[in-house]
Amino acid sequence: MQPRDLSDHAEYQAGRGIEEVARELGRDPAEFVKLASNENPLGPSPAAIAALEDAASDVHHYPTAAHADLTAALADEWGVADEQVWLANGGDGVLDYLHRATLAPGDDVLVPTPGFSYYGMSSRFHHGGVAEYEIPRDDGFDLTADCVLDAYDGERVVHLTSPHNPTGGRFSLDDVETIAEETDEETLVVVDEAYGEFTDAPSALGLVRDRDDVDGSRPSAGRAKRDDVAVLRTFSKVYGLAGVRLGYGLVPEAWADAYARVNTPFAASALACAAGLAALGDEEHREATVETAAWAREYMRAELDAPVFESHANFVLVEVGDAAGVAEALKHRGVIVRDCTSFGLDDCVRITCGTREETERAVDALNEVLAA
Ligand code: PMP
Repeated sequence: MQPRDLSDHAEYQAGRGIEEVARELGRDPAEFVKLASNENPLGPSPAAIAALEDAASDVHHYPTAAHADLTAALADEWGVADEQVWLANGGDGVLDYLHRATLAPGDDVLVPTPGFSYYGMSSRFHHGGVAEYEIPRDDGFDLTADCVLDAYDGERVVHLTSPHNPTGGRFSLDDVETIAEETDEETLVVVDEAYGEFTDAPSALGLVRDRDDVDGSRPSAGRAKRDDVAVLRTFSKVYGLAGVRLGYGLVPEAWADAYARVNTPFAASALACAAGLAALGDEEHREATVETAAWAREYMRAELDAPVFESHANFVLVEVGDAAGVAEALKHRGVIVRDCTSFGLDDCVRITCGTREETERAVDALNEVLAA
């Protein structure tokens, strides 16, 4: 018995950790700063750490109550019904559930290029195919309804990322609405807002719910409620919980009973739910994270001796020439960034917004490498 032929599947491009890089170079991990995976440089909220410790003694129980509590808190935060919140093992898990809920064998999904690789991978896992739309570099990787609709050919799912990874651009709510309007009724538009907290642009959830008076959420400005848009969010970025693996989907009201049919039982662990619930309540930590990212973005744009694309996320895309060579040289200077060759951009690196100290160090190192 062999696994099915997976030779046309891509592999997940997970960034290597500091420990691995330090081991490779025979150096002390303390000498490195990692700005390659868009993680939170402030770490998790102290409240989340305390909640993890508290929850630890109860992990012999299944996480039914923890699931329900976090689901209710997110439903309240976003002004939707509990059934519209789909907890999952990271944003990646949300993509799997959405594909399970939508794809029949042979159905295609439409994905951005350059873009996040897991959209296509997950489609293939679910016996689907992949078609691409191109984000035109000429226009500074501007995201428009046209770049999506020009390529659209009846795919079952259309993936949008806003803010976009790896470019940092974003779709306007009008463009998302146009895309949903112009695609077939049987096409789901998935708006991946993994970096949504770093921009003040309204969430695409405004197209899904009919209340616009909810504290902590953004107004839907009286738009018609749709049943063909879903939103993805994650605790990996602004909440600094990438290691616990927790994400959630926000789906249309009409999808209320679908989650029970597609989720892997106990989709998020008790520890993840406890950490997520505590992190959600720590507004101070969230604001400090968003402010740190905003400062670092501007600092890198102002101080780097290379073109930096405008970003609304917690990273910037920088045009450096030989991306692989530059990333390697930076690594030897103790700064780990993402070589974007795997995104098809062999002249760009992506640098995560760090703390002040980390960001200054990355800028100095990159400027030195570029000048050498
Ligand atoms: N969407 C985008 C655009 C991402 O960049 C990532 C992770 N880097 C994810 C989703 C998934 O994140 P996670 O599974 O950690 O929630």
